Amino acid sequence: MEDPLSRRALITGITGQDGSYLAEHLLEQGYEVWGLVRGQANPHVSRLRKHIGDVQITTGDLLDQGSLISAVERVRPDEVYNLGAISYVPMSWQQAELTAEVTGMGVLRMLEAIRVVSGISPSRTPGDEQIRFYQASSSEMFGMVRETPQNEKTPFHPRSPYGVAKTYGHYITQNYRESYGMFAVSGILFNHESPRRGAEFVTRKVTLGAARIKLGLASELRLGNLEARRDWGFAGDYVRAMRMMLVQDAPEDYVIGTGQTQSVRDLVEFAFTSVGLNWEEHVVLDERYTRPAEVDLLCADPKKARVHLGWEPQVTFEQLVSMMVESDLRLLSQSARPEDEPVSPDHW
Ligand code: NDP
Ligand code: GDP
Repeated sequence: MEDPLSRRALITGITGQDGSYLAEHLLEQGYEVWGLVRGQANPHVSRLRKHIGDVQITTGDLLDQGSLISAVERVRPDEVYNLGAISYVPMSWQQAELTAEVTGMGVLRMLEAIRVVSGISPSRTPGDEQIRFYQASSSEMFGMVRETPQNEKTPFHPRSPYGVAKTYGHYITQNYRESYGMFAVSGILFNHESPRRGAEFVTRKVTLGAARIKLGLASELRLGNLEARRDWGFAGDYVRAMRMMLVQDAPEDYVIGTGQTQSVRDLVEFAFTSVGLNWEEHVVLDERYTRPAEVDLLCADPKKARVHLGWEPQVTFEQLVSMMVESDLRLLSQSARPEDEPVSPDHW
C-alpha cells in the first residue's frame, strides 16, 4: 500500500459531525482531503472552512449520478468515505422516499461512480491501486434486537425508513465487493456524539437543554422515550476506526462501539447533575418526541475491531457528556443572542 503521506481522500458528508472530525484526522495523517458538498451556496461550508482550513471542496450530490462521477474524475481519490446521508431517524418517516434516495441509493451511486471512473466491470477487476470505499453503516440496521450485544453476525431488523435505507447501503457495498472485487467496506457504527452533534439528536438536545436551564435561558426540556438504551461513544474516536478499516490488507466490515449501554434517563440524570440541577424538576415528557417504531436497546460487541484493527475508544460516556455540557455552557454564555439556536458548538 502507498505511503499514507501521499494519499488523497474524498469525503461525502464533510459538513456533518463525522465529516469534520474525519477531515481533521486525515489531515493529521498527512492526507490531501477533499469534501463533496451539495448546493450552490451551502451555508455549512463557511463553518467548515473557518475551522478546518486545508480541506478542498468539490460539488456534488448523492442524488445526482453524473455529479458523483465528475467529482471522482476531478479528485482521483485513493479513498472515498461515504458519510453523506439524511441521518436523523424521525426525519426518515417524514421524508421516507428522500431518505431512501440519499441514504440508500446514494451509496449505489457513489459505488457506481468509482466503478465507472476506474473502468471496473465483471471482466475487468480492480488493480492494486484501486479506490478504496468506506460506507457509514449504522447500528440502526439491528433495530429490533433479539440478541445483545450486537456483532458483525447479528441479523438486521431495521425499525425506521432510515434503518432500512442504511441496510440497503450496507448490502450494496457488500455486493460490489463480492461482484467486482472492489475494496468496499462498511463500518457498523453505534451512536457517536460530540459538541458538534446536531441539536436534534438526544444527547445534544439534553446537553444544550441542561446548559440553557443552568444559565436561566429556559426552564424545561421536553423529551420522548426515556427508557431507550444506546451505546454512546465519542465521534473523534470513531473516525479513527474508519481510516483503520481502509488501510487493512483485506476489505471487511466492522462493528464500532463501546460495549456499554445507557438509557436516555441515565443521560439526562448525568447531564443535569453535572451542572447541579435536579432533572426531575425540568424534564417534561412529550409524546411528539416518541416514534412510530422504537429501537429499545443497542449495545455493541466491538471485539473484532479491537482484535483486528487494534481500535479502542478513549472517551468514556461520562467524559463525553461532560465535554458536551461544558461546550454548550461556553457557547451559550458567549452567544450575543442566546435565544438563537446555536450553530457553533466547540465552536462549530
Ligand atoms: P450529519 O447529519 O451530521 O451529516 C450528514 C451529512 O450528509 C451532511 O454533511 C450533509 O450535508 C450530507 N448530505 C445530506 N444530504 C446529502 C446529499 N443529498 N448529497 C450529499 N451530501 C448530503 O451525520 P453524522 O456526521 O452524524 O454521520 C455521518 C454518517 O454516519 C451518516 O451517514 C450517518 O447516517 C452515519 N451514522 C452516524 C451515526 C452517529 O451516531 N452519528 C451512527 C451510525 C451511522 P449538508 O451540509 O449539505 O446538509
Ligand atoms: P438515534 O439512535 O439515531 O435515533 O439517535 P437519537 O439521538 O435521535 O435518539 C436516541 C434515542 O433517544 C431514541 O430511542 C429516541 O426515541 C430517544 N429520545 C427520547 N427523547 C428524544 C428526543 O426528544 N429527541 C430525540 N432525538 N431522541 C429522543
